[in-house]
Amino acid sequence: MSDKIKIALFDAKDYDIASFEKANAEGVYEISYFDDKLRVDTCKLAEGFDVVCVFVNDDVGHEEIDKLYGYGVKLICLRCAGYNNVEIEYAYNKIHVARVPAYSPYAVAEHAMAMLMTSIRRIHKAYIRTRDFNFSLSGMTGFDFHGKTVGVVGTGKIGRVFIDICKGFGMNVLAYDKFPNPEFGLNYVSLDEIWEKSDIISFHCPLTDETRYLVNSESIDKMKKGVVLVNTSRGALIDSEALLEGIKSRKIGAACLDVYEEESDLFFHDYSGHIVEDDVIARLISMPNVIVTSHQAFLTEEALGNIADTTLNNVRQFFAEGKCDNELCYVCNKFSECQRTHNGKCF
Ligand code: NAD
Repeated sequence: MSDKIKIALFDAKDYDIASFEKANAEGVYEISYFDDKLRVDTCKLAEGFDVVCVFVNDDVGHEEIDKLYGYGVKLICLRCAGYNNVEIEYAYNKIHVARVPAYSPYAVAEHAMAMLMTSIRRIHKAYIRTRDFNFSLSGMTGFDFHGKTVGVVGTGKIGRVFIDICKGFGMNVLAYDKFPNPEFGLNYVSLDEIWEKSDIISFHCPLTDETRYLVNSESIDKMKKGVVLVNTSRGALIDSEALLEGIKSRKIGAACLDVYEEESDLFFHDYSGHIVEDDVIARLISMPNVIVTSHQAFLTEEALGNIADTTLNNVRQFFAEGKCDNELCYVCNKFSECQRTHNGKCF
């Protein structure tokens, strides 16, 4: 039997397999790729593996953690930065969890701007029209970005790249962060000011109990008429039904959504030809001023390469060096005081 470290990679897509095979070209690890998402009923696939590797829409709740722990899995590697799908506190003292804290802030920030430009300059409409030799400009009027006010919620790695891009367009940037950093030289304001003064609002903060439904009917009421919302962060930052109402009442001018609160059973799959049961996403997609992409902001060659390299490096560090710089635990998370005193690990 091989003594290689065994990795079970869930929710594996062709691009994941390509990037992980490249990163593991020397065959250091034995990687098995599973189409299935990690769910209670698919945990069994991880029996006999040392590492489980998951992505944004896999469930890593207490039931899955119990099962994986029972199967002897030592490490859960997230192929992403956000970890709202993991019950971190429950995993503590059972299974270590590591993530890829940054793989390409440019990929996500550039996608946010691409969606914004597509939406406001009607590129998606023009593409379809001109393919049909319809060269009419009716209904194609956009607006200049130059001089507009953009509110950026979350000024971490992605938010700051997005801000730089916006500054390149000559936009006025207002920023909000729970932990503002004076060294970034940004114009930090309150959330209410973001709602009240922004022509465009882009979200780049994590999904937490505090940020869930940050956009709701109350915050929408405070926004400017015609505001454009861009969400490349996590779907549940926005109450989708309130968003729909805001669009129907013409309060919201446009929405660019790379994420959706109920995306986990929809995104990354081909449902063309099926009857989609989710009326909210169906209605949102039917709107002329809503653009939806299926959580693809991260999807660049550079980002995929960095995700695979960092994930395998997390595995290598964990097993070979007895530590893991990218480990996550609820102590790190909640109190920022985890000293990683257990041989460089969190517990
Ligand atoms: P980051 O950790 O560098 O930055 C997050 C920022 O949000 C930090 O400055 C933090 O202080 C701030 N923040 C925390 N709580 C907040 C709150 N309650 N209100 C306002 N700000 C708050 O993270 P990042 O790498 O910039 O990523 C941001 C988010 O983008 C991630 O959490 C993830 O959900 C999302 N993301 C999406 C994709 C995609 O493909 N669509 C890819 C990567 C990341």
